[in-house]
Amino acid sequence: MPRVKSFSRGGILVDSFRSLTGSQPIRPLFLPSLAVIPLTQYTGARAEWMVNVGESVAEDQVLARGLFSGDLDIHSPIPGRILEFREIPLPGGVVSSAALVQLEGEFGRTGHPVTKKEWASVSDEELLDRVRKAGIFLESSPLDPRRNLESLSPMIETLVVNALQPEPYLTLSLNLQDQRSEALVEGIRILQKLFRPRQTHYVSDPDHPDLWVKRFSAELEGVVLHALSFKYPQSQEGLLLQTIGVSVAPGMGSKVLILDVSSVLAIRDAVVEAKPQVEKTIVVSGRGVQHPGVYLVRIGTPLVQLLKDVGGLHPGEHKILIGGPFQGHSVDLLSTPVLKSTQAVLVLEKDEVNQSLERPCIRCGQCVTSCPVGLEPLNLHKALTQGNIALAREEGLGFCIECGICSYVCPSRVPLVSEFQNAKERVHGV
Ligand code: SF4
Ligand code: SF4
Repeated sequence: MPRVKSFSRGGILVDSFRSLTGSQPIRPLFLPSLAVIPLTQYTGARAEWMVNVGESVAEDQVLARGLFSGDLDIHSPIPGRILEFREIPLPGGVVSSAALVQLEGEFGRTGHPVTKKEWASVSDEELLDRVRKAGIFLESSPLDPRRNLESLSPMIETLVVNALQPEPYLTLSLNLQDQRSEALVEGIRILQKLFRPRQTHYVSDPDHPDLWVKRFSAELEGVVLHALSFKYPQSQEGLLLQTIGVSVAPGMGSKVLILDVSSVLAIRDAVVEAKPQVEKTIVVSGRGVQHPGVYLVRIGTPLVQLLKDVGGLHPGEHKILIGGPFQGHSVDLLSTPVLKSTQAVLVLEKDEVNQSLERPCIRCGQCVTSCPVGLEPLNLHKALTQGNIALAREEGLGFCIECGICSYVCPSRVPLVSEFQNAKERVHGV
């Protein structure tokens, strides 16, 4: 069993709530009677509609085409009819055009036997074509933000498959690696054939190495296994690579590809089953939801239906988040749909959310000792409060990874990370 490792500076271990969903089987949810499909499925998406109001569409039909290299096609998650196009708000403040698809007609793929496609002897071009046609949103390293496997294929030297999710409540990778382990191993083999990396690393949590040692030694050659602590933000790319001993020379980031378990499985499903990305396995958790669990849900399912189908909410006030408690976005509208980029929906009760008001900084230093990249958030805060952006840059604003730990530990509830995010957005090149 590998030794459990972690990064050395800062970070926090928090009560994880992983027991709410960690051992749950993956359960399919009902199909949406009305799917809401935004054109903006992830930050920076560029696509245009290929269908018109009143048109009938088949399951898996391309509804919108990505405009440029690396932009993703969007497929219909259900057979139906285009009722209308509408502007809708999305988490994070984006407004997007969305197609409303009313369920009708017959399914072309769902419910039919799966014919597995051969992949071991097909060309790289054919493999890449199968992946490209599936329109997969890759949870990949921002060391290469293009998310375009075609442009990467001749360049990758190191492949890292990351099954560690240290944010509280998030167990998706753990559920998937337990319950779709054979498909995951096949997905890694497909990626190894495609990229021929000199090194492949697999990162898991402290509780799983035995299982994975057995699988890897039997079916995968040359994969280095790592067991990492749940300390947050261990999955941040720089900290992850530093902890597993992968050094990245300046300007060489695109030679390292980090993929999460969902992405590896989506690639495998596209290559082996010719399945486009029309559904997601997501975690629905938090003490506000009646039946926390891990659910297979169609993209475009509105949260109002999703939460009803998982048994509804406990009475009382809630805060709903898309994503984890540190980096997720809060949502007010339950008409918000599941997107290609959705990994979790959290329904937190009042006592799970610290709602106390901001007070002046008391210079306790907790944000400094917790920052995993060695910044002094109180000094950043002071510089930004004075409007001195040059000083904030000197203090290392550009190195902030926006992990949110400083805000979490601050006893004065200073909204440090949102100040830093806003400042970085305002100043180009920080
Ligand atoms: S959000 Fe930025 S400043 Fe705050 S702890 Fe994380 S890296 Fe440090
Ligand atoms: S944790 Fe909050 S109160 Fe303490 S030094 Fe940092 S900003 Fe100030």
